[in-house]
Amino acid sequence: MEAELIAIGSELLGRDKIDTNSLYLTEALSRLGIQVVRKSVVGDDPLRLKDAFLSAIARSDLVVSTGGLGPTRDDITRDMLAEALGLSMRLDPEILEGLRQRYLDRGTEFQENSTKQAYVVNGAESIPNGPGAAPGTYLEKDGTVIVLLPGVPREMRHMMDHFVLDRLKEQWDFPVPYSISMNFGGIPESVIDQRLRKFDFSNQELEFAILASLRRVQVVLTGMNRDKVEDMAAAVKAEFPEGFYSEGDRFLEEIVLEQLIKAGKTVSVAESCTGGLLGKTLTDIPGSSSAFLGGFVVYQNDAKSRLLGVPEDMLASKGAVSREVADWMSNGIRGAFESDYGIAITGVAGPDSSEQKPAGLVFVSVTDGRERVGREFHFAGSREMVREQSVTAALNMIRILISKDEAGKKGVSNG
Ligand code: ATP
Ligand code: MG
Repeated sequence: MEAELIAIGSELLGRDKIDTNSLYLTEALSRLGIQVVRKSVVGDDPLRLKDAFLSAIARSDLVVSTGGLGPTRDDITRDMLAEALGLSMRLDPEILEGLRQRYLDRGTEFQENSTKQAYVVNGAESIPNGPGAAPGTYLEKDGTVIVLLPGVPREMRHMMDHFVLDRLKEQWDFPVPYSISMNFGGIPESVIDQRLRKFDFSNQELEFAILASLRRVQVVLTGMNRDKVEDMAAAVKAEFPEGFYSEGDRFLEEIVLEQLIKAGKTVSVAESCTGGLLGKTLTDIPGSSSAFLGGFVVYQNDAKSRLLGVPEDMLASKGAVSREVADWMSNGIRGAFESDYGIAITGVAGPDSSEQKPAGLVFVSVTDGRERVGREFHFAGSREMVREQSVTAALNMIRILISKDEAGKKGVSNG
């Protein structure tokens, strides 16, 4: 099965906005074994839009567009599809009533231009929009399925997850591949790849992919036989008992918070070069307040000594970017917040070196009050990339420390 995506919206052709919807769609469709073979970006232009639809429909089994379903003048996707295919449209009173109710619920006056969202292409099904207003469209025409989704990413995802994927599964009754993605921390992509060479994936009819970002290294196994995928995934995890931390889209920060909450423990953070990014990352997770107490952004030397008690002579002799200072910071923050764990990051985010230390040099220290683990990193890339990698490294170190503490506790209670 081959699919084609069309991102609609003149703003996507400008300098500020990029089409990210297609990344989600590609991933979601691939889980059904549908391959995206082509994608395009088209402005809000009637002729170009009609042309884009007609040629995509002629080429592909499935055409999915996003954007242009709203009430405003430039939202013309539905109309252009109908015109291109020579289909008429009908006003759906139920949808119109729903739209009116939406305005009522929000205490605002119904806007007449919204009426156009209640028009449905004849022969098509309307897709309910959970979080938003504009309904989507699901239409089958001469063997091609055409799906119109809103541009707002949250609404687009909702329609895929609650309607389109199920409908496509019904429509084409083909075997769906099974896949497991596993996330690893603290081990470079190249090392994982090398160590996994000993497994013969293709002999097991499995597809193997390794994807690395600043946040994680992900290994994805895909195959038609679920047992084979699961067995191999277990073998892959067993290769890196300390490195594996989650499956699917569960990021490190979520895992760390889960560990802390489960153990009834708390954490606080002291950040220099990351400027609060670690605290931000942890608080991105709903419910983080049960384990994350807070943090200090201690950027200047003076702040490090006044707020965390880092000795001035140590800052002078070792420099703010040093293993010793990182250790003082993790101890200091743990004391200041009276948390169970303390995390500290100090480094040179770049792009220039500082205190004669190179950009990308970062020290991370984590402590539980008894044990302290410090590590030195040399990260490559821009300022932003150095910061991201620092946060990832810190989260990974605290994850490992918490696991050890919890395993130790279990060991004791088991005798
Ligand atoms: P609305 O009812 O809100 O008008 P719509 O279906 O008309 O929805 P657009 O107006 O095209 O959608 O876009 C709404 C929002 O979604 C905008 O902020 C836009 O930048 C964003 N958006 C649109 N298309 C994409 C895309 N392909 N990738 C990421 N964001 C997108
Ligand atoms: Mg719009």
